[in-house]
Amino acid sequence: MDVLAPIDQYLHRWLIAPVSDQFLGLFDLNGRLCVAFLFTSYAVAYGLFRWRRSRGLTDAPTFWQFIGGNRVHFHPSALLDYRYYFVRAILKVLLVVPIIGLVDPYVLRSGDYMRFFTRLWGARVQVEEHLALSLLYGLGVFLLQDFIHYWAHRAYHSRYLWAFHKVHHSATVLVPVTASRVHFLEKVVERLIDLVFVSAFAGIFWYACGGEISRYTLFGVTYMVFILNALAANLRHSHVWLSFGPRVEHVLNSPAQHQIHHSDAPRHFNKNFGVNLSLWDWMFGTLYVTQAQPEPIRFGTGEADHGRYLSLYSLIVTPFVDTLGKIRLARRPLGVSAVAGASVPATARTAPRAIAPAAEPGAGRAN
Ligand SMILES: [Zn+2]
Ligand SMILES: [Zn+2]
Repeated sequence: MDVLAPIDQYLHRWLIAPVSDQFLGLFDLNGRLCVAFLFTSYAVAYGLFRWRRSRGLTDAPTFWQFIGGNRVHFHPSALLDYRYYFVRAILKVLLVVPIIGLVDPYVLRSGDYMRFFTRLWGARVQVEEHLALSLLYGLGVFLLQDFIHYWAHRAYHSRYLWAFHKVHHSATVLVPVTASRVHFLEKVVERLIDLVFVSAFAGIFWYACGGEISRYTLFGVTYMVFILNALAANLRHSHVWLSFGPRVEHVLNSPAQHQIHHSDAPRHFNKNFGVNLSLWDWMFGTLYVTQAQPEPIRFGTGEADHGRYLSLYSLIVTPFVDTLGKIRLARRPLGVSAVAGASVPATARTAPRAIAPAAEPGAGRAN
């Protein structure tokens, strides 16, 4: 038995603990994919089903069919998402946490900023903490993170980062777990930029207040995130069309808007990068608003990729292979790369010009 002990410890540390933690994460209100938020999302979907059926706006005979049925939930793309959800937990322990641990000591924290400003302008008198201040601080963190994630998302649609973000877009059907179909490097970058920017914001805000202010939370979760997750956030990755209407969608990102972002139709490319707010899309020219009437959409990155992203290997390794290929191609002399480039299909989303605000007017265009 003693011989097996190290193997047992190894398995527990690198496999059993991360996978069971990921499973328990389904009950964590900090994650969008929490059971409680899944319940509220599908409760909204059920209300929508009843409403559409009473008006003859849906052909679906049952609620299961309405949300996609077996065709969606047992599709090979969805089955891969379920497996990847747990594999990602292992990747987190093996790669994400160590990489962040390596960089962490070099990141300035809120305390560093407070000390810097105190030396520069002297200490400030601490204001009394009250609800309005906590709400303001929580709102500030939420707006800052949402704004940064908008730009990070736009950056991921650029030529050299697209291969990694393509992992998320390669899903040909959308289920709530597809939200976790994200390459581990994208996750590392997201965590680091959160750390850098939120630390700076907290340092500046706390210095101005003369001391630490706690965020206002609901059940231990930043209140804005809690409210928006409870409002059907899981329907973003689903086949349930829920539009908030053109007016609201200038500010709040609806499930239908995110589904447009996953569309493989060129007219939908590089639209709706916002996570919670579409305000940034409106401000920076990437907004596409939807109507109550569902648009016919096919998800994914085009037929050429359908067979390429059907394994765990392809979700983890293919982005590195594709990026290396692109770098090699770019380094070749012009004549050679032009010929070679013809044999490597590039999606319109990878072209930097595709990032530019769309100016083309046309039917159905909302911005
Ligand atoms: Zn995207
Ligand atoms: Zn998505």
